[in-house]
Amino acid sequence: MPTHILVVEDEPNLAEAVQYSLERAGYKVSCAHSSAEAILLARQHPPDLAVLDIGLPDGSGLDLCKRLQLNRRLPVIFLTGHDQDTDVILGLERGADDYVTKPFSVGQLVARVGAVLRRVSEGTEPKAAERYEVNEVVMDLIRHEVRVADRLVELPPKQFELLKLLMSRAGEALGRQELIDAIWGVDYFGDTRALDTHIRWLREALEEEPSQPRRILTVRGIGYKFADK
Ligand code: CA
Repeated sequence: MPTHILVVEDEPNLAEAVQYSLERAGYKVSCAHSSAEAILLARQHPPDLAVLDIGLPDGSGLDLCKRLQLNRRLPVIFLTGHDQDTDVILGLERGADDYVTKPFSVGQLVARVGAVLRRVSEGTEPKAAERYEVNEVVMDLIRHEVRVADRLVELPPKQFELLKLLMSRAGEALGRQELIDAIWGVDYFGDTRALDTHIRWLREALEEEPSQPRRILTVRGIGYKFADK
């Protein structure tokens, strides 16, 4: 399977030039012109790397990056305007694999893509976790098992996914919308109380006293977090 690259850029000519050059370099390329389109494409065909414009018609490339990376690590190269704020640039230097400032030569971008993919495949990147163990709860993603203090717990798929997300970022307060997007998808417009119901079920499965949880905590005004101690 050829390496799949998702290009998200709202300027049609630039998107086309980038797509053309990456395809010539042997990559399979999907092109999106907005964040919404990018999320749909990424769900249909998960990319190996994303090239994201910062200024998109329906939001910032930085927010899109967070949404694309919810469940997994995805290498990202940002395309930034020459007049970008220093704050954004500093954020990129911390969070992105690389970024290219417009105007750039597509050849330069193709070279950067190659360099990031090489770094990833050389294993200088951490591997996806196969197991989480926090606060007496063990999730074995290979066996698809959850144990609480050595007791095996059966969880339906949505609860399993929700727990996996919470545990993979234990100690971090995760927003309600982020959790809903990750578990039910960004096009979910159903009852957001579904999240609370699933949390309640998870607590019933994992907590000694579900009404006084010490693992799955409510973070008022934000969402939930898995306590890391
Ligand atoms: Ca733009």
